[in-house]
Amino acid sequence: MQLPGPTDIPERVLPALARQSVDFDHAGFTELVAGCLDGLGCMLGTRGRVYACAALGQGAPEATLVNLVGAGEVVRVPETGRFGTRWAQMAEALGLPVARLPTDTRRPVDPGPIETALRADWEHRIRGVLAVHVETSIGIRHDPPSPRAALDAARHPALLVVDAIASLASIPLEMDPCGIDLVVAGSQKKPVPAAGVSFVAAGPHALELARTGGPPRRYRDGWGRAGAESHERSSGTPPVSMIFALRQALDTPGEEGRPAVVVPDARLVGAVRAVVARWSGSGAIDFHCLNPDARADAVTRLAFASGIEPDRQREWARDRYGVAGGGGSRPVRRRPLRTGYPGDRDDAMVPGVPGVLALRESRVPYGQGGVEAALGALARR
Ligand SMILES: *Cc1c(COP(=O)(O)O)cnc(C)c1O
Repeated sequence: MQLPGPTDIPERVLPALARQSVDFDHAGFTELVAGCLDGLGCMLGTRGRVYACAALGQGAPEATLVNLVGAGEVVRVPETGRFGTRWAQMAEALGLPVARLPTDTRRPVDPGPIETALRADWEHRIRGVLAVHVETSIGIRHDPPSPRAALDAARHPALLVVDAIASLASIPLEMDPCGIDLVVAGSQKKPVPAAGVSFVAAGPHALELARTGGPPRRYRDGWGRAGAESHERSSGTPPVSMIFALRQALDTPGEEGRPAVVVPDARLVGAVRAVVARWSGSGAIDFHCLNPDARADAVTRLAFASGIEPDRQREWARDRYGVAGGGGSRPVRRRPLRTGYPGDRDDAMVPGVPGVLALRESRVPYGQGGVEAALGALARR
């Protein structure tokens, strides 16, 4: 499973999903939920409140929009890829005026045009800048200090809202120190990794707006409401099994007792990059992200020259050899192929996967020596 997630569930977490259910009103479970959510807040570097809901990843972004934005206000969305665009589509579907900001989807987002747009908004009609930390669809890391700097330079009070679904637990994110007002995240990319729970971490500015803003709502108001009971903190029946899995996943203590953010092993990341660098010698394959520093560690997206159809290659690798890689997703669907490794990975998998992808039956012309380059990178300790 070389998908960005859901992917292999680590052996350590798997048994938690087979645990028998418990009475969710029991004090022990309430405490377990509180421990989990507090742990997540700690991991995200925030003193704000964290809420969880049984939902797909997009449950938290939609709840965020419903809670924060009242009629007639605008949200500004840099269109960084599939998930940046999804923010915009979601807001538009809710009837919100959206100011989309086209970006170069092969590079990290440029804060300049965001700042210009914020400066032009002298009436402060923009309520939020909706950003994405790791654009999984294209394998690019957009660091949140960049839109924060644009907001500060323009002295604009809009909230900075960050989708950290793909980066939670695998890339450190310091929400309060970075001036992020709200983070949405989910269980399926790293922590568990299986779909089922969506999280919101909200700082004081966001909580205040949620109290006064937005249209009437009930279910999606869950995270705007304080309450100690486990059902209050998940807006209804808590997803008990997923909470057990999450508890187990967060059980690796890091610095100062915070749950550890487990960054992908640099040797494995280096080996994957060494393969792609060699393959690119053919001129038919390259990294999608043109800035080496902004390439996401947990998902590598390849770009292919026109005329090459990697989807067939992907299906062939999955059906014949059991190696599943990620496809492309709109709006940058052309020339997709992604390989992710947020779950359990080891040295043998890194040369094995590109080895399968590059087998002679492949119709994709690739530069030679990729597997040797990976072995060389792995040998450097
Ligand atoms: C996977 C992912 C999502 C959520 O997807 P769902 O299909 O709603 O679960 C959102 N944002 C990013 C950055 C993601 O990687």
